[in-house]
Amino acid sequence: PKLVEKTPSKTDPLENVGHVIAVASGKGGVGKSTTTVNLALALVALGLRVGILDADIYGPSLPTLLGLHGKPGMGEGRKLRPMRAYGLQAMSMGLLVEPETAMVWRGPMVMSAITQMMADVEWGALDVLLVDMPPGTGDAQLALAQGTRLAGAVIVSTPQDLSLIDVRRGIAMFRKVDVPILGVIENMAQFICPDCGSSHAIFGEGGAKTEAGRLGVPFLGAVPLTMALRAASDAGQPIVARDPDGPLGQIYKDIAQTM
Ligand code: ADP
Repeated sequence: PKLVEKTPSKTDPLENVGHVIAVASGKGGVGKSTTTVNLALALVALGLRVGILDADIYGPSLPTLLGLHGKPGMGEGRKLRPMRAYGLQAMSMGLLVEPETAMVWRGPMVMSAITQMMADVEWGALDVLLVDMPPGTGDAQLALAQGTRLAGAVIVSTPQDLSLIDVRRGIAMFRKVDVPILGVIENMAQFICPDCGSSHAIFGEGGAKTEAGRLGVPFLGAVPLTMALRAASDAGQPIVARDPDGPLGQIYKDIAQTM
């Protein structure tokens, strides 16, 4: 990846972490978490040590996506020990509080919970930490982007116009805090019919690629809308873990290599 070099300091809570990369989207439901997990597994397949911090506090889906159960343990430094799945280290607010609890938190509580989670996890040595950002470009997202040693950001979008407007906002937000945009990933690009294999552009076609070109940021690749991907995610066995060399695994590995 073409990342900016930022050397962690001794007081940095992420001192064991090489590069911290945000995965962001303008709105929820575009597949940001699905992308984060499969991209992380693609980076593992490329030989990197990878962690995921699920900072999507309103809809933490990492436990489901990775099939994680139970509560994380406490390490020697009285910090949370990340959980492990499929060669990844993982931490999520969903492992710490009941889903209904965080839903009703106000902005400042959300921010302090995220800040605390950033500071209080005892990551093992990592080359890359992917941060699954809360969707949107409000104050909490801006504070998180600003307060974290981010080497870059990846933006996930569907090809739809409404999602693309948010891509512009997301890019503007990261530019404001001088975080380089590593690129845009188009998710749900084409629907591949599981019966006949034919392809349909349900949310339109090529929108994210055109938009990335217009905004002068790299286009990293397109992931189709497929039943297999959704089913694997729901079963807690992400598609890249199930079949790293299959067609979808290859798409994610290509994206991981491009970024
Ligand atoms: P977000 O994190 O942006 O809210 P999710 O990653 O939770 O979105 O995805 C929303 C839903 O869409 C999930 O049920 C997920 O399994 C499904 N999904 C995401 N990407 C795809 C895809 N490319 N093909 C099929 N289903 C997908």
